[in-house]
Amino acid sequence: MRIDLHTHSTASDGTDTPAELVRNAAAAGLDVVALTDHDTVGGYAQATAALAGTDLTLVTGAELSCRTGGTSMHMLAYLFDPAEPQLYAARELVRDGRVPRAHGMIDKLQALGVPVTWEMVARIAGDGSVGRPHIATAMVELGVVPTVSDAFTEEWLANDGRAYVGKQEFDPFDAVRLVKAAGGVTVFAHPGAHKRGETVPDEVIAGLAAAGLDGLEIDHVDHDEPTRTRLRGLARELGLLPTGSSDYHGTRKSVPLGECVTDPEVYAQLAARATGAQPISAV
Ligand code: AMP
Ligand code: ZN
Ligand code: FE
Ligand code: FE
Repeated sequence: MRIDLHTHSTASDGTDTPAELVRNAAAAGLDVVALTDHDTVGGYAQATAALAGTDLTLVTGAELSCRTGGTSMHMLAYLFDPAEPQLYAARELVRDGRVPRAHGMIDKLQALGVPVTWEMVARIAGDGSVGRPHIATAMVELGVVPTVSDAFTEEWLANDGRAYVGKQEFDPFDAVRLVKAAGGVTVFAHPGAHKRGETVPDEVIAGLAAAGLDGLEIDHVDHDEPTRTRLRGLARELGLLPTGSSDYHGTRKSVPLGECVTDPEVYAQLAARATGAQPISAV
């Protein structure tokens, strides 16, 4: 069993449509793939329809933008009821807040002499939840930076970058509570990805575990070996399920589907805890 629990489609900042993502996951030999677009469930219907004729199982999910103690972090949420009103309302607030925030970053870039426009970014984002990778893609088109990753620097869009603007984010304790109330489970995404900025202290992770967090994403390209070893120990200590996943973004990042995977036993435990939705396979 090859299980990849973290991917993005054009419903957020990936480059595969949800249908292409499902087909690519099947072609990559995955048995289970989770669709975890940023702050949206917009890809579910298309991904589900694309399962026909494959042996793939789809886990519906989202990656919720959170902030605690001034530090941004990402919370993977799986198998929640997408219609549950409280989580629905909170998710809309965070997703819709991305639009004025993108305008703010575009304004800052223009002030820095980069001729990026909202029209470009809106074309690149399409109907996806708009984020920095879309703005970075516009900067690549304009020849300002050679690759999307090169826009995530102090000079431009990194958390401490000159053109960065913060966004509306969940308190992670609220996220855990809201997802649980919607029948879902939560996994703290790439908790040791220090190259992206400040990381959350272990004491806060312990607090989240006490508040009902289910797992920690351990095997992730942004974690080096010592980080994985340390996080694996922390997960064991706190009784958190250790997951692994690619965080695939299509061609917007270089990581392929299935680059890291989750143990089938861990996946079975996560799925068994969820009551808001069930994994979906073609009949
Ligand atoms: P946003 O949600 O708009 O703040 O943008 C966050 C997204 O930017 C994440 O999904 C990452 O995939 C991407 N990202 C963050 N840091 C980097 C980086 N150093 N290189 C490339 N992409 C990054
Ligand atoms: Zn992303
Ligand atoms: Fe993330
Ligand atoms: Fe992600």
